[in-house]
Amino acid sequence: MAATAVPARADDLTCDYDVTLVDPGAVKLDISVACDPAVKVTQFTALGNRDHWWTDPEGYRDGNGRFTYDLGAFAKSEDNMGSAMVFGDAALVTPGFLLALPETEHAVMLRFRLKFPAGGAVLTALQPDKDGYYRVPLLRLNEAGPLILGNVTAEEIVGDPELTLAIQPDGSLIAREQLIAWVSAVAEGNRRFWARSPARKGLIILVPTPRGGVPFGRVLSLGGAVVTVLVGRRATPQDLYDDWVLVHEMLHLGSPLMRDTGAWLNEGIATFYEPVLRARAGWKSEDDVWHEWISQMPRGIPAVTGAGLANAGRGGIYWGGALFVLMAEIESLQASGGKIGFSDCLRAVLAEGGDVTVKWPTMKLLDRCDALLGGNVIAALAKQHIERGSAMDLDQLWRRLGVSVADGAIRYDDAAELAWLRPLIIWGGTARPAPISASGFLPDG
Ligand SMILES: [Zn+2]
Repeated sequence: MAATAVPARADDLTCDYDVTLVDPGAVKLDISVACDPAVKVTQFTALGNRDHWWTDPEGYRDGNGRFTYDLGAFAKSEDNMGSAMVFGDAALVTPGFLLALPETEHAVMLRFRLKFPAGGAVLTALQPDKDGYYRVPLLRLNEAGPLILGNVTAEEIVGDPELTLAIQPDGSLIAREQLIAWVSAVAEGNRRFWARSPARKGLIILVPTPRGGVPFGRVLSLGGAVVTVLVGRRATPQDLYDDWVLVHEMLHLGSPLMRDTGAWLNEGIATFYEPVLRARAGWKSEDDVWHEWISQMPRGIPAVTGAGLANAGRGGIYWGGALFVLMAEIESLQASGGKIGFSDCLRAVLAEGGDVTVKWPTMKLLDRCDALLGGNVIAALAKQHIERGSAMDLDQLWRRLGVSVADGAIRYDDAAELAWLRPLIIWGGTARPAPISASGFLPDG
């Protein structure tokens, strides 16, 4: 009787890379790779422009290969934070553009380790395994954040050892100390909200851009959370504290990635609490928060009343999600007599390890809330608005909270039925917290 081949589990198949930084300043690499024979590599392929890779014609066979790679030259030609870009005397590169990738029909775990015989360093959120390898599945390479390789040093975020900061040199008119103070202040606002750091070994990368303000940010979190934020070269320190992007991205770090019903809950959490955190830090007035919500929340109405949040288009997930979080906050506080808000659920989830590096189903997080509340509160709300929508009266909700806009100004009605919830929503308690000042994070002098 012929033996039947047992297919290997995806985790069993690996390609192991040794990446040696032979010239840290120019970011030149020697790379050798050895794949499990069962991977059946037909060839290795470099993503993007291949002019900067060299291998001899016999350079690979049987799943083994040796390459030299001028990553510094590639980064210069790419100039793209989605692939590679120059970062001072180093290169920022995403894992898919660091390695020569095996062409194979199999799911493979890519394991790579870095060697620095001529100096240099790496900044990465990936955590090495017991053999010193970083691990990224071939099929999920695009979910892994960039790393920085070469002559690079990390900045310390004041008060948060879980986060490392990398600032691209020479790019910004804002002093380095001011940038560090800003990130530290945003991290402090997040730690207050989450009752701990929102990250476990996260990396924050600031990249200067000719555009104004803070025009773009994103989080990639497979194997470790990396926040990349573009900062305008001409932005002033005041522009930084007036901006929402870094606060929003850092908020993403504290919740599991939930994608089974779409991105609406992750985006809703970040969109809803971003102005709240800035108000609590003293960077935005309470009036401005209500103003923003009253003017923007209607954008979420079609999703929560129509096809449901799970079926919302890209335009509906941010404010549709934020509207759901507002309703969840109010229902939680009402059900618990003001003792437990939706943010308490989020803190409980993070405390048990539910940060952005793990994936959860949406209902797992929402059910944690009901466990905390001891009732069927958030699940009932979910039933009304996720898979399909149902009616809600937003104008009536504002009336019950006792907020309205007249002649462009916010008016408060303290006699309104739910007026007592307003300070709990905005301040997280009955008293306004102390502001967070940048000067607290700047060196003396
Ligand atoms: Zn977001």
